[in-house]
Amino acid sequence: MNEPAASLPAISCADDYDPNSMAVGKAREVISRFLSPVTTAERVHIRAALGRVLAQDVISPLDVPAHDNSAMDGYAVRIADLKADGQATFKVAGTAFAGVPFSGTLKTGECVRIMTGGVVPAGADTIVMQEHVEAKGDQVTIGGGHKKGQNLRRAGEDLKAGEPALRRGQVLRPAEIGLIASLGIPEVMVYRRLRVAFFSTGDELVSVGTLPKEGQIYDSNRYTIHGMLTRLGCEIIDMGVVRDDPQLLEQAFQEAAATADVVITSGGVSVGEADFVKDLLNKLGEVVFWKIAMKPGRPLAYGKIGKAHFFGLPGNPVSVMVTFYQFVRDALLKLSGRDPIAPLPAFRVPCTSSLKKAPGRTEFQRGVLTQDATGNWSVRVTGEQGSGILRSMSEANCFIILSTDQGNVAPGALVEVQVMEGVI
Ligand code: AMP
Ligand code: MG
Repeated sequence: MNEPAASLPAISCADDYDPNSMAVGKAREVISRFLSPVTTAERVHIRAALGRVLAQDVISPLDVPAHDNSAMDGYAVRIADLKADGQATFKVAGTAFAGVPFSGTLKTGECVRIMTGGVVPAGADTIVMQEHVEAKGDQVTIGGGHKKGQNLRRAGEDLKAGEPALRRGQVLRPAEIGLIASLGIPEVMVYRRLRVAFFSTGDELVSVGTLPKEGQIYDSNRYTIHGMLTRLGCEIIDMGVVRDDPQLLEQAFQEAAATADVVITSGGVSVGEADFVKDLLNKLGEVVFWKIAMKPGRPLAYGKIGKAHFFGLPGNPVSVMVTFYQFVRDALLKLSGRDPIAPLPAFRVPCTSSLKKAPGRTEFQRGVLTQDATGNWSVRVTGEQGSGILRSMSEANCFIILSTDQGNVAPGALVEVQVMEGVI
């Protein structure tokens, strides 16, 4: 299942960090040291390639465009036949439509009626827009002020034959798929999908379809994780709910690590619960338990179980989504072979709410970005920010990121927002 990885340095060798108060950026950096992307590739038709990651450069087999062609509807002429500051008259020798070229060579005093995309006839070097000519029968009159080569698209100006049109590591969006088709290439090599197994832990959890008994709640994390993994194009192995029982958990961890590249769990990493999970994971692999200096999402476990990467996310539903977006997303993209991984878009806008924030940790409050009638953007916070209130995620379209040292925010102050893009 996994790529034969070089033996990984022990996580305990990640020396210069404090697992009891790990900065968000530091945690990301430590995780990224351990990620080696998939290497196995498969050939797929471009129709089936949406969202997949290129395993090889796509080399253009042809010049695009293949010929010099017209960017306008108009007339193809020789610049030498035009008068700089007077009128010149031409005989229309024929037409060059897109797909139906003019087969002759332009002679002195001749022009060719040409449409956008039409191949520029031999002998012509300039296109004059139809709006700038006076046409009468097979004669056209053209004034001065034109430049040699105007309104021409040159052969190979988009892509040159033999050069990479797309690079390995690039994710295929509709634009890339169209571009590959424009080269006449029907199939591409893409990395295999990343296999991700996940389960929820907790005696209190039941899945939808089962009636909760007194004190039980519905599992929601498995469903948000399912959605986020689907959006990232992973192959998904949903292992259900596992009770807080060391034997059942051990079995689940082993089964997951044997079949998947990545194992994700939620719950069981907070103080108290962490202890027996910790012992178990120490036995099965190499896992560190971090208290990240962030809110929500403070407890997080990361490591390896056998060859599989392991992310132990907190139990609270909002914490799951925040830690997934801030840590797991980039890790999965890297493991999937994506290169480069663009940072999530973030920018600063005025915040219309007053925000409570204690210095000492990074906060990811849930916000709603809106545009007013004059076109200016601002953000407000979604009401209650408790880490169990999933509605705050559902109402939000961005995170308001308040950095470690920042304190309370007064209405009108600028804050950093990160758009929840494509995953959440
Ligand atoms: P834990 O980290 O396991 O102590 O869980 C923290 C909180 O999140 C508790 O209130 C749990 O009931 C809740 N929780 C844990 N797992 C889930 C889940 N899969 N879906 C919904 N809530 C959960
Ligand atoms: Mg629990």
